[in-house]
Amino acid sequence: MYFIANWKMFGDLKSLKSLNKVINFSSKYKRKKFKLIYCPPYTLLDSFSKKIRKTRIELGAQNCHFEISNGPFTGSISPSMLKNIGSNYVIIGHSENRNMGDTDSQINKKINSSIKSGLKIIFCIGETLIQKKKKKTNQILSKQILKGLFKINNLNKILIAYEPVWSIGTGAVPRSFELEKNITFIKKILKNKFRIKNPKVLYGGSVNPKNAKNLAAINNIDGFLIGGASQKANNFIDIVKKTII
Ligand code: PEP
Repeated sequence: MYFIANWKMFGDLKSLKSLNKVINFSSKYKRKKFKLIYCPPYTLLDSFSKKIRKTRIELGAQNCHFEISNGPFTGSISPSMLKNIGSNYVIIGHSENRNMGDTDSQINKKINSSIKSGLKIIFCIGETLIQKKKKKTNQILSKQILKGLFKINNLNKILIAYEPVWSIGTGAVPRSFELEKNITFIKKILKNKFRIKNPKVLYGGSVNPKNAKNLAAINNIDGFLIGGASQKANNFIDIVKKTII
């Protein structure tokens, strides 16, 4: 199971302290099979990278530019810069970035250059509430996958995070049968169209210590991408505990 903490635009140097609890927790459960990945804001990547050295926690960034290394792109960070600072993962296609203008084709370019830089990808897809109400969920998910992964090699470097836009930060989560159906649909595309033998699909959207157990009981979920609840170490640890212990 993957547990990915997306801190979004939260956190400063003081918040690094909260990692101590998570580091202790993860070393206590060495034998349990799970992966912990933290995606703090860019400003904390370097400090995080130093702090988690020799622990089982891995580092990810929340976005990147599509240019692989350098260029005249003020305010942007490239995949190779992320790799250089100790990131192993990068989130691409988060709905908050799609909302700010990331298109499917830009997302595809970001995935391509990130993989070439040696990063693994947390590729976010998901339908809006209007699309869900119009019964367009399958259509949207398959469009996002087909365009995002167009001509991408090394597909084993991709984790999909299914994040219905209407469930991010709202407290609303899909009903179990719906979630299971959508994840099955996503896995089917990855197997049939991209020949990925054992695709990994995570769920993201308002996961918290109260709903984690029920969500984890859905048998085709490979982990969680956690926003708000990941900012408090105790909540993050609780989610992991409820899922794996
Ligand atoms: C997210 O931003 O990826 C997310 C899942 O947020 P939250 O858990 O706060 O809904």
